[in-house]
Amino acid sequence: MMTESLLFFLVDDDPAITELVTTLLSDAGHDVQVSHSSRDALALIPSTQPDVILLDIMMPGMDGQELCTRLRECPELSNACIIMLSSKSYEWDRSRAYKSGANGYMLKPVNAETFVEDLDQIISKQVTLTFWGARGTLPTPEPDCMRYGGNTVCVTLSLPQDRLFIFDAGTGIRSLSSHLLNEHKKNVVAKIFISHSHWDHINALPFFVPLYMQGNEFEICGPAQGSLTMREVIAAQMDDVYFPVTMKQFAARVYFRDLVEGVYDMDGVEVHTMLLNHPGYCLGYRINYDGRSICYITDQELHPDTSPSYSSHYRNMLEEFIRDTDALITDCTYFDNEYSEHEDWGHSSVSEVVHTAHRANVRQLFLYHHDPAHNDDDIDKKLNQAHALLNELGSKTICLAPKERESIVL
Ligand SMILES: [Zn+2]
Ligand SMILES: [Zn+2]
Repeated sequence: MMTESLLFFLVDDDPAITELVTTLLSDAGHDVQVSHSSRDALALIPSTQPDVILLDIMMPGMDGQELCTRLRECPELSNACIIMLSSKSYEWDRSRAYKSGANGYMLKPVNAETFVEDLDQIISKQVTLTFWGARGTLPTPEPDCMRYGGNTVCVTLSLPQDRLFIFDAGTGIRSLSSHLLNEHKKNVVAKIFISHSHWDHINALPFFVPLYMQGNEFEICGPAQGSLTMREVIAAQMDDVYFPVTMKQFAARVYFRDLVEGVYDMDGVEVHTMLLNHPGYCLGYRINYDGRSICYITDQELHPDTSPSYSSHYRNMLEEFIRDTDALITDCTYFDNEYSEHEDWGHSSVSEVVHTAHRANVRQLFLYHHDPAHNDDDIDKKLNQAHALLNELGSKTICLAPKERESIVL
C-alpha cells in the first residue's frame, strides 16, 4: 500500500466519480483537488504540482487525451504521474493515452474495494529518469553555467523493485553518490552502463562512494576498447600514476562485463546496444521496460547528408534503434554553424539531432552532452532552435534541455 501521503488532482466532468474517488483517496490518507472542467484544470494543475493526476477521457471542450498532451508540455509537471480513468476499454484509446504521455490507464466503473490498491500498483511501477550531469567533454563550474549545472554526463533510470541503472560516470555521478548516501540506503545494487572510455564518461567513477561500501553490488558494463576490457579501462585510470586509490579498495562487490552489439537481459529488463559513430568503441543503449523505453545515445556524430562521411545505412540503423522511444537522450554538442569547424570530432549539431528524432517518432528528445564553451544562454538558444525546427516540421516530438537533478517520470 502507498505509505506516503500524495497530492492527487482529479479531472472528471462526472461529480459522482469525483466524489467517490475523493472519498477513497482521502480515506487512504491522501490530499485531493478536483476540477470538473478540463480547461480549468489545464490552468490550475501546473501551479498545483500534484504527484498524481487522474484524467477522465470523454469531457466537453478538451478531452482527457488532449489535456494529457498539454500537461506533458509543462516542464514543472515532468515528475507527475498521469493516469487515465475512463470507461473506454478500446485498445486504441489505451495506446493513444500512453502516446500522449500517460503513465497508466484504469477502467471505470471504479471498484471501491480495489481502487486504491490498483492505483498503487501503477504508481509503484513508475520508471524515473534523473539527470546528474549534462555537459560534455569537461565540467563547466562557471557562474553562467549554474542553471543547467556544470557536471559532465551521468543519468539514472530507476525501475520498480529498487533496480537502478546508471549511465556514464562523468562528474555528475558525484551528485548521485551524495544523493544515495543522504538516503542512507543499505545494499545498493546497480548496473553502471559506460558508453565509452573517454574521460568525461568515466573519470568520476573513483569518486562514487558507494563503490567503497560493503554490502553494495555493482556491475560495470560497457564496450571493450579493442583488446582492452572494461575492467582494464577502469583499472588503468585508477593506476597509481593517475590516481592514489586503486580498485582493490572497492569494498562493494564489483563485477565487469564487456558488451557488444546485441540484446541483453539485465535483471529482467531488456537492454539493446548499438555501436555509435564516434572514435573508438562507443555503445548506445535502449532500455525497454513495461511498454516504455529510453535511449541513451552519446557520444555520436550525425554527419549531414552533404558530407562525404554521411552513411544512409548508419542513419537507418540508428533510426530503427530509437524508433518510437519515449525518451531519447542524445549528443547535441554544437550549434549548426559551429559544426563544420568540428566535423569528425565525433559529435552532433542541433538540426541533425532534431531531424533524426522527428523521423524516428521520438516522444521526448533530451539535448545532452553540451560543448564546454556553451553557457546556459547558449543551451537556451539550442533549445529554442530545436523547438523552432520541430514546429516547422509539424513534429509531435517534445524537446527538452535537462537540468541537473531534474527527474522525468516515464
Ligand atoms: Zn563525451
Ligand atoms: Zn567521446
